[in-house]
Amino acid sequence: MVKFTLYILYISKLIQQINKQIKMQKIIIIGSGPSAWTAAIYSGRAQLNPIVFTGAMSAENQAKNILPMGQLSMTTEIENFPGFPPTGEVGRLLATAITPDRIMMLPPHDEGQHGISGPELVELMRAQAVACGANVIEDDIVDVDFTGTAGAVRKLTSGSGKVYETQTVIVATGARANWLGLDSETKFKNRGVSACAVCDGALPRFRNKEIAVIGGGDSAVEEANYLAKFASKVYLIHRRDKLRASRAMEKRALEHPKIEILWNRVPTEVLGDDKTGVAGLILKSTLGYPDLELPVVGMFVAIGHTPNSHFLKGKLNIDEKGFVIKPIPFRTNTSVEGVFTAGDVADSHYRQAITAAATGAMSAIDAERYLASLE
Ligand SMILES: Cc1cc2nc3c(=O)[nH]c(=O)nc-3n(C[C@H](O)[C@H](O)[C@H](O)COP(=O)(O)OP(=O)(O)OC[C@H]3O[C@@H](n4cnc5c(N)ncnc54)[C@H](O)[C@@H]3O)c2cc1C
Repeated sequence: MVKFTLYILYISKLIQQINKQIKMQKIIIIGSGPSAWTAAIYSGRAQLNPIVFTGAMSAENQAKNILPMGQLSMTTEIENFPGFPPTGEVGRLLATAITPDRIMMLPPHDEGQHGISGPELVELMRAQAVACGANVIEDDIVDVDFTGTAGAVRKLTSGSGKVYETQTVIVATGARANWLGLDSETKFKNRGVSACAVCDGALPRFRNKEIAVIGGGDSAVEEANYLAKFASKVYLIHRRDKLRASRAMEKRALEHPKIEILWNRVPTEVLGDDKTGVAGLILKSTLGYPDLELPVVGMFVAIGHTPNSHFLKGKLNIDEKGFVIKPIPFRTNTSVEGVFTAGDVADSHYRQAITAAATGAMSAIDAERYLASLE
């Protein structure tokens, strides 16, 4: 009887183990933005049967602003992705290319008003990846085992506790913009509040109007300079009395006729209404002076980005801000052989849908060549 019980225990343990360890994969892609879907399209077409982990729609992820389908799912018009000019046939394309259950989740498409929205663009990328053979799992990767040298099996643990074994991995987990954390900031996102000057600066809402940029580093000054092409005036609002930006960048800001720096001020409220969006900011003084009401139609928050790389700490070389380090210029290799990276998680500089997609393609080609070299 004891022998029988031990036997049953042994068998159930074995079944648990088998359930946990899914069959060895050639490639697993972690992420669900343009870089992940492009890597999936390329590796699917190369017959590598990619699995894509999109991330889970959990309360924890939502609180951190890490949503499945990436940053594009949080925006409205995309005017700078090649192939999607702001007129045309997009509605028909969407209706035929995306499955009805997923198209239900998209905001209505107003053909003629704009070409394509961020959520539509990334859904089309997903549909194309699935058509190319990608298997999609709507879960997080919460842990990785990257021990061993070239050819070693890489192990990924999903949120449900399953362990996936794979020969190559593409880390395409993106990044998220840092926000001030004001309720009124959230309320006016995409209606005058933005974290991307290159993406939104040219929109009609900001043209020849006064706007504000929040921050004091190089990227804040870069954004202010870029926005000054369109706006009538750009206020650069910084909480200290000195910029963190390099001397050269600081000089550019100080000498620009359209940029005015407001020192020792922090926004405490975004003003506006539901119809027109942002109409002003309340700025608190860090030196105890009275509040200032600034009548601007836009607020660009430029206080940095946080890469979604927390689960890679100690497993892969990442820099002090969390960006994955690419040791070989113009390649997508990481510090671990067989592990590649793409998109904003490894890019603190460009942070665009098209650059993410481009590095996604590169990472799939690099992974495919690495697999060929193992054979
Ligand atoms: C409001 C806004 C507007 C923008 N507008 C434009 C624009 O007009 N034009 C433009 O070119 N760019 C725009 N961008 C920038 C563009 O969206 C990004 O550069 C691009 O989405 C980056 O793509 P990515 O593939 O690196 O990953 P992301 O889009 O950042 O997506 C990565 C996703 O991976 C998933 N993930 C993260 N961690 C895990 C994990 N552990 N396991 C599984 N999945 C995980 C998450 O779901 C995450 O969202 C905008 C960005 C924002 C925020």
